[in-house]
Amino acid sequence: MIYDTAIIGTGPAGVSAALTLRANDKKFIWIGSKTFSDKVGKAERIANYPGLPMVTGQEMNDVFRRQCEELDIAIEDRMVTSIMKFGDHYALTAGSEFYETYTIIFATGVANVGTLPGEGELVGKGVSYCATCDGFLYKNKTIAVICTAKRFEHEVEFLSGLAAKVYYFPLYKDPSRFGENVEIMSERAVKMNAENGRLASLTLKNGEAVSVNGVFCLRESVSLATLLPGLATEQGHIAVDRAMVTNLPGVFAAGDCTGRPYQYVKAAGEGNVAAHSAIEYLASLR
Ligand SMILES: Cc1cc2nc3c(=O)[nH]c(=O)nc-3n(C[C@H](O)[C@H](O)[C@H](O)COP(=O)(O)OP(=O)(O)OC[C@H]3O[C@@H](n4cnc5c(N)ncnc54)[C@H](O)[C@@H]3O)c2cc1C
Repeated sequence: MIYDTAIIGTGPAGVSAALTLRANDKKFIWIGSKTFSDKVGKAERIANYPGLPMVTGQEMNDVFRRQCEELDIAIEDRMVTSIMKFGDHYALTAGSEFYETYTIIFATGVANVGTLPGEGELVGKGVSYCATCDGFLYKNKTIAVICTAKRFEHEVEFLSGLAAKVYYFPLYKDPSRFGENVEIMSERAVKMNAENGRLASLTLKNGEAVSVNGVFCLRESVSLATLLPGLATEQGHIAVDRAMVTNLPGVFAAGDCTGRPYQYVKAAGEGNVAAHSAIEYLASLR
């Protein structure tokens, strides 16, 4: 099945796009986190969102959840790791799943954690963003896993069942304990190094290096250049016009990923505009 639209991201921009697509009876897939957005959940009090005076971030996420449940809108709890153009539509990879869609709405927010020096050039040459897709390549090998959130720990568990040795770099508090082959690293990795065109080691903050065959980066977001090659950006944000249209046909963007100000109501407004633009684009295909 080819969807009308795929929304990537479950913050206010994604929620607003999903509500608008549902109201217009579109066939869409929504990929992100079932807990919506960490950036929403972490807000102590929100004073500037119309209709929800002085809610906590958690209360706002709860309202989003209720509203989506009442409309029977489901979230696929996965990270999209790559997108490819496929003739007149796009194909998205998220974990071990593959989705086809005529249009895409990026509502991915802005990344808190940047990529490491060397990472970009080594994607597919030892650097992976998807444990279930690429884990089998590292059976009985030595790998590193850099992980920004506890919710990805099941992927670390999965990888530790395949690899002989895992250097684990958790970028969050209180990581779980894993099997004996997982060494939790207290120093951060600061650089990825290549030998003969493939990843060979990571340099740590203290200057030491660890030799690895592969590294898995499990982050709340994936760099835009990696996700969809050819997508135009401006100062790290997706370039859009007032209709939230990007440089690629059928691709729209909304929320923090399009630029400042980083605000809930701007994200929600843009999600609505992006959904309307996607609907117009779909009509033009017929
Ligand atoms: C502590 C804090 C307090 C704040 N307080 C306020 C406030 O009071 N008022 C205000 O207006 N703004 C506030 N903000 C800013 C606000 O949080 C953001 O502007 C808003 O969340 C942006 O919404 P968004 O939908 O664009 O992105 P986000 O809320 O960042 O959501 C993006 C979502 O996309 C998902 N995602 C990213 N990449 C992928 C991928 N490849 N595949 C699948 N999913 C993906 C992420 O996991 C995330 O769930 C605050 C921010 C913080 C951190």
